[in-house]
Amino acid sequence: MDEKATVLLVDDTRTNIQLLAGCLKQDYRLKIAMNGKRCLELAQTPPLPDLILLDVIMPEMDGYEVCRQLKQNPETKHIPIIFVTGRDSDEDEEFGLQLGAVDYIAKPIRPAIVTARVSTQITLKHQSDELRSMALHDQLTQLYNRHFLIESANNKLAHVDRHGHDLSLLMIDVDFFKHINDQFGHHAGDQVLKAIAQVLQADNRKEDVVARFGGEEFVVLLEHCGLDSAIEKAERLREKIEALEPSGITVTASFGVAQLQEHENTFVELLTRADEAVYIAKEQGRNRVVASDNQVMAPSLDKKIV
Ligand code: GH3
Ligand code: MG
Ligand code: MG
Repeated sequence: MDEKATVLLVDDTRTNIQLLAGCLKQDYRLKIAMNGKRCLELAQTPPLPDLILLDVIMPEMDGYEVCRQLKQNPETKHIPIIFVTGRDSDEDEEFGLQLGAVDYIAKPIRPAIVTARVSTQITLKHQSDELRSMALHDQLTQLYNRHFLIESANNKLAHVDRHGHDLSLLMIDVDFFKHINDQFGHHAGDQVLKAIAQVLQADNRKEDVVARFGGEEFVVLLEHCGLDSAIEKAERLREKIEALEPSGITVTASFGVAQLQEHENTFVELLTRADEAVYIAKEQGRNRVVASDNQVMAPSLDKKIV
């Protein structure tokens, strides 16, 4: 696997690109843009850049404007930018830093300065990526955490509002998990949670969010998914968990399913209905899927209704 960091070089002059590339090509994967518009495209195209070296004076869109647009876009705002420019007055430097650039390299460039500054920024970028990832993930299971789920759900809700597509949610609560801890120990309990997390993660699509919501509770947020498909998916997951038997431990889970209704404006409403459905699943004997609204049972589970 290619572990090299990716640096995007942006300059309208070929010789400048060649000079920078000469300093960096050995240690980094390079992407090249010769105008601002192309830079904005490449900043969002995999492999995503870890750093952008940005010329200031370019025709059509100058580097300051490119920087402004990169910083406004949630997808690109975390990419550090170093301005590389012949304009090296204190005012220019100050202006660039105010726009959110992390550093400034004056032309004519000196290779040792370029490699040193790029290396520093790449190290910082890796550290901040790591921190951001830790802040959004659950340590035990590596799934997203509750914080990320809520943030992402709110974004998706805004999207659903505008585009009117389906959004459904599965709330999953492990059955009698306290017994598992009591009987096999906390460490074994942790391994069970990890195994369940893997089942949930393995089955998802790219746009789904799979999160550990709390101790032994998980949430799967399904975009473009109506209630029937969500119930089917829950039933499939329920069967997989039942068949799992991690380290020989029998484990099952209860599922609450809810689809966002037109009148619902907040994620909490959706979450609450899924939670109520879980509660009913528990009351009805656990290891089953219950949907919110009239508590429609998954067809294959009719036999389990008591
Ligand atoms: P129910 O079927 O009604 O959901 O019963 P339950 O025992 O699963 O539910 P309860 O909420 O009473 O207990 C949840 C237990 O999960 C209690 C808590 O100690 C345990 N737990 C929470 N987080 C973790 C964790 O990270 N690791 C382990 N091993 N146990 C955890
Ligand atoms: Mg619980
Ligand atoms: Mg439980």
